Amino acid sequence: MVLPDYHVHTAYSPDSKMEPEEAIIAAISSGISEICFTEHMDLGHHMESFNRVPDFERIENSISQLRKKYPKINIGKGIEVGYISDTAKQTAAVLSGQNFDYVLLSTHCVDGIDCYVPESKRDRDKFTAYKRYLETVYDSVMDDNLTKYYDCISHIGYIAKCNHYEDNVFPYQLFPELFDEILSEVIKRGKGIEVNTSGINRAGHVLPHPSIIRRYRELGGRIITIGSDAHKPQNVGAYIKDAIDIIAQAGFQEITLFKNREPSFISIL
Ligand SMILES: [Zn+2]
Ligand SMILES: [Zn+2]
Repeated sequence: MVLPDYHVHTAYSPDSKMEPEEAIIAAISSGISEICFTEHMDLGHHMESFNRVPDFERIENSISQLRKKYPKINIGKGIEVGYISDTAKQTAAVLSGQNFDYVLLSTHCVDGIDCYVPESKRDRDKFTAYKRYLETVYDSVMDDNLTKYYDCISHIGYIAKCNHYEDNVFPYQLFPELFDEILSEVIKRGKGIEVNTSGINRAGHVLPHPSIIRRYRELGGRIITIGSDAHKPQNVGAYIKDAIDIIAQAGFQEITLFKNREPSFISIL
């Protein structure tokens, strides 16, 4: 059975100390057959450590060495791009000069502050904050500067894992129209969504919530990937099998892998 983990950070990201080789060893020991490194690039981020272009040359060298040393696991070179409208053109220019297997587009910052930072809550109640977050996701999908340069929208519902409220569940029913607009546009543009398992321990569910995955399928969505968003070895491959079950229950018969930004579809039946 194919078990992909398509969202892994290493020391090439500002918020991880994991060496790429540690991630590979952890992936192999948890039965992962296919791993994709997705280091952070959030140009315009208010935290300077995120506001930088990753060292692509060193990443490339490290991956090619690991591919030789661990030929039994497929190792992809990806990136997780944080959406900030002011820097979308600059982000596109960086991406256009690189070759990736897989590119994730994420919304981390809303109105200038990363949802992860407690100050991002400001005086907003859950409804207001989640709505602003989703509006920003919609903007990211609609931003024509970036359409050519990414493959999947990452962790829809990211704000839910930031734990600013007592109840952090983020289902489809909260904003059905907004979710429909986002998902329809993703499909229309030939993009996909990622099922991110890092929400399970923090929001209580994968991101996006299973009800949103079901709706994506109903609307005709086909491209769907899975990632743990691991920043530490113990999280590499976490809940990937559970995510496959959730995707199957939502009506999918296949999940998606990427190589050179070309999708392939693998049966999960
Ligand atoms: Zn992210
Ligand atoms: Zn991530």
